Amino acid sequence: MRLSRYFLPILRDAPKEAEIVSHRLMLRAGMIRQEAAGIYAWLPLGLRVLDKISSIVREEQDRAGAIECLMPTIQLADLWRESGRYDAYGEEMLRIKDRHEREMLYGPTNEEMITEIFRAGVRSYKDLPKNLYHIQWKFRDERRPRFGVMRSREFLMKDAYSFDLDQAGARTSYNRMFVAYLRTFARLGLKSIPMRADTGPIGGDLSHEFIILAKTGESEVYCHKDYLDFETPPETVNFDDAAELQSYFDKWTSLYAATDEMHEKAEFEAISEDKRVSARGIEVGHIFYFGTKYSLPMKALVTGPDGKDTPVHMGSYGIGPSRLAAAIIEAGHDDSGIVWPEAVAPFRVGLVNLKPGDAAVDAACEDLYAKLEAAGVDVLYDDTDERPGSKFATMDLIGLPWRLVVGPKGLASGQVELKRRSGGAAEALSPEQAVATIL
Ligand code: ATP
Ligand code: MG
Ligand code: MG
Ligand code: MG
Repeated sequence: MRLSRYFLPILRDAPKEAEIVSHRLMLRAGMIRQEAAGIYAWLPLGLRVLDKISSIVREEQDRAGAIECLMPTIQLADLWRESGRYDAYGEEMLRIKDRHEREMLYGPTNEEMITEIFRAGVRSYKDLPKNLYHIQWKFRDERRPRFGVMRSREFLMKDAYSFDLDQAGARTSYNRMFVAYLRTFARLGLKSIPMRADTGPIGGDLSHEFIILAKTGESEVYCHKDYLDFETPPETVNFDDAAELQSYFDKWTSLYAATDEMHEKAEFEAISEDKRVSARGIEVGHIFYFGTKYSLPMKALVTGPDGKDTPVHMGSYGIGPSRLAAAIIEAGHDDSGIVWPEAVAPFRVGLVNLKPGDAAVDAACEDLYAKLEAAGVDVLYDDTDERPGSKFATMDLIGLPWRLVVGPKGLASGQVELKRRSGGAAEALSPEQAVATIL
């Protein structure tokens, strides 16, 4: 992408309304724009990041055997009356009426709808287990939308729903998502810790929140320090092996970790003091096992091996890709701007032309741009007339993993300059060496 043709509305000054660094940087880097309280447009740079996050989430859901679908954002109130949640959900639900005065709502979550879809399509235990997910916008009329996309009213959620014949099967489904979540957050460059959690309006018996430690987090959390050094389950995990999945679950729940609502002071204080972490955290994912809470009232039944109809055991599993974009910035930035992990960077390379109009510099840039793009590397090529200082500031602000600078002086001795955003000195290299290093 040539910057001269792109849409990157950079703000030089920190917007006053932004209280935390990720919100500030997302506004300044032209990633998002607020359209109403807690409602954001994703501008081109932000959308690239959001899509990359969603792709990683999707890959790990697919790997764990979940099947993607797409449910609508608008739902019928009557569906929620079947579960009894229409009245119980409260002010966070945005309720709307169509032209026929039919009561509808903008979905804050999809337990009812997926249960309806399941019961219409599955009759026998032989079709189980199943896990269906979608990545779709949600709306919750948050009392206090704040911190940009960290707590917005409209936000993107990946929500998966599992269906099993019995509790033992549902436990394995829960563990599949538990392991998939550990892998997902690790691939996003984050250290997540599963913590015993409250089930809230989703309800249920077993629940873990996946928490990223961060000073600006809204949750108060308590855990054992050793979790920070635990190894992520590898790509080779066998998601069909219930015992293997259980062993990962057991390991990752072997030490103390709980959110505020579930905190047991005495248990926490039994940990040696140097291993106690009492900190703020960001909830990036949340998984629930809630048995027959929805299947019973909504009559999602399957015929079991004994020929009798029984309600299916269900779980639900949420991740917030839009909140994650902010959480990744909270975890990766410096005084000059964002420092993206490679996996979600909007472009891998920022190519800076220090003297547009200089034939040799232009030619060298075009050549590098073509070679990198041909090799499948996403490049943002700054071919604009801005001053070098401003170009560097923009590149630092938007945080691309590599900065490749071409200027007349270096080029005269056959060299360009390559620098990693995450640190280390700039290196003078031949253009060929620079390309080889990036690849
Ligand atoms: P919170 O405690 O932050 O209000 P929640 O517990 O209400 O979140 P869940 O119902 O567990 O949220 O939803 C699953 C995931 O959706 C959360 O873990 C989070 O990543 C994301 N999410 C929830 N609410 C928001 C929001 N207002 N803005 C952005 N992401 C959100
Ligand atoms: Mg909430
Ligand atoms: Mg919560
Ligand atoms: Mg939650």
